[in-house]
Amino acid sequence: MPGTYSIMDYKRSKNFQSEQLLIYYLTLLNSEEWKNKLTNSDVYLKFQVVSKKKDHKNDNFIKIQKGQIIYKEHKSKAKYVSFDIKEFYTWLEKVFQNINRSNFTPIAVKEREIRRFLEEMHDKYNNAKTGEKYYDCSSCQFRSLCELMLYKKDFNINIKKYL
Ligand code: SF4
Repeated sequence: MPGTYSIMDYKRSKNFQSEQLLIYYLTLLNSEEWKNKLTNSDVYLKFQVVSKKKDHKNDNFIKIQKGQIIYKEHKSKAKYVSFDIKEFYTWLEKVFQNINRSNFTPIAVKEREIRRFLEEMHDKYNNAKTGEKYYDCSSCQFRSLCELMLYKKDFNINIKKYL
């Protein structure tokens, strides 16, 4: 009989990366112990914030059911959209391909090619945007080093944001 599982990650702040939860799911899906349990069940992926701050509240979750990712529709409180989880495999493959090709051009030189998974899916399926943080130049620990490169043409650490 199919069951329901939740995969939760406890966070102290509201900085989430949905890709992290989806990778947890894939990791479990590839383990002998969990494979059958998860394949035949509904799975909820969620970040649980353990902060008392109100603005750190997070009610979002990703549901996976029969190989479909189910997520809130853009600008809707009650409606959901769904799309194949293979979309995430394709997105992940793109990331791995860039790593394999050693494509590490700084974002101060070239706009990022790969956006957050759910942001990319928003363009195709109109799911809600997540507002998840991009780790760009503004929060980068190497920013002071890169500032030394600002004399170079086309080197810009005040890059475009996607949020
Ligand atoms: S400041 Fe950080 S994120 Fe921006 S280009 Fe330099 S290393 Fe990359």
